[in-house]
Amino acid sequence: MKVFIAVDMEGATGVAHREHLLPGGNDYERARRWLTSDVNAAVQGAVDAGADEVYVNDGHGNMRNIIIDDLHEAARLVVGPAQSKNKPLVQVTGIETEKFDAAMLVGFHSRAGTPGGLLSHTWVGLLVHEIRLQGKVAGEALLDAAIVGHYGVPVVLVTGADDACREAKADLGDDLIAVEVKKALGPSACASLTPKRTAPMIREAASRGVRERASRKPWTTTSPVTMDVEFHRREMAQRALELGVGERVGERCVRYEAKDVPSATLHLWRGLEEALREDGSFLK
Ligand SMILES: [Zn+2]
Repeated sequence: MKVFIAVDMEGATGVAHREHLLPGGNDYERARRWLTSDVNAAVQGAVDAGADEVYVNDGHGNMRNIIIDDLHEAARLVVGPAQSKNKPLVQVTGIETEKFDAAMLVGFHSRAGTPGGLLSHTWVGLLVHEIRLQGKVAGEALLDAAIVGHYGVPVVLVTGADDACREAKADLGDDLIAVEVKKALGPSACASLTPKRTAPMIREAASRGVRERASRKPWTTTSPVTMDVEFHRREMAQRALELGVGERVGERCVRYEAKDVPSATLHLWRGLEEALREDGSFLK
């Protein structure tokens, strides 16, 4: 039995601040260990429930955060940055390579604009005001669930702060097993449990999630699939459109339409890459 774990960092035990999230930041090296502890607990839970292969996708920032030396030996680590030509399905790249039985979202955060949310954003905070999938406002938990759902895989667990858990349950069903490792107090403040406390909680919940996977349905939708990106600024939408993919459907909004969720995601991600590209500083 095979389990896939998509990992982000904002929702890891103890993580509260931008400094925790960027290489070179104060306590970043420690935060990597907290993250790895959460992931190990989820891997152990999957193994307890009978998994013999567990893919772990490091899906935050440069996507090289999990410390492989300390990673559970049952895991296979998907590592390397998200680029359309490199890791096209971003946090769930690898899901297309094998037939998985269950997926988990570990260390997740709430979507851009969440009132009172902790480290809230959607994929690229610098660019994205909002993403809508089939017209519905979507955070990363729903977007990833939609991609793995395309491959027939249900999400069985989410871990993160209380706001992220609430969002995932609202989008993926109230019966989704969620582990609140901390309570959001503001954009970069939380009341966190300790890794010693959250590890057994995550392990138990992961094991239960995998054992009860038959009761969870993969997230699916109809074809064609539209994904709208509402950018922060008009110029960002303009740059994204220069790629020749997508259509403008609002002042700051670009629509990507494709036959399925993975294809639409790939278009959208290429648009974000293009929007990130800036003119050389000598031209400013
Ligand atoms: Zn992240």
